[in-house]
Amino acid sequence: MSIDQANKFGFTINRSRLIDYDASDRKVRDYITAREPSFRLCFACGGCTAACTAGHHTTFNLRRMNTYIRRGEIDPLREEVTRCMLCGKCLLVCPRGVNTRNVVAVAAEAIRKLDRNEL
Ligand code: SF4
Ligand code: SF4
Repeated sequence: MSIDQANKFGFTINRSRLIDYDASDRKVRDYITAREPSFRLCFACGGCTAACTAGHHTTFNLRRMNTYIRRGEIDPLREEVTRCMLCGKCLLVCPRGVNTRNVVAVAAEAIRKLDRNEL
């Protein structure tokens, strides 16, 4: 629904939170799901975020990173992937068996390729 359509119903959408999925860049998400299919199993429970070593010392949030990937929000994703220490603790708690550490590693690889126009 567009902002103009929403206005007709008596409410407005905050532009800063408006996410246009049709305009999102799916290249990074497709790259990750092709190489780490378990990424599709994530149901955003946040268990990995609660256990995350980097998250205890920085603003890193793995669940949020997964959301950036799904939405195709590349700019915040670019910064987020640099914070993971690849310790693997999140792997131990994921109830869906997502290979979370590899998701981060492949996401970082995808960003590097994107920046070199190889994606
Ligand atoms: S613990 Fe697994 S299912 Fe839950 S948010 Fe993290 S990756 Fe997704
Ligand atoms: S591998 Fe990365 S995301 Fe997982 S617990 Fe360690 S620092 Fe956090």
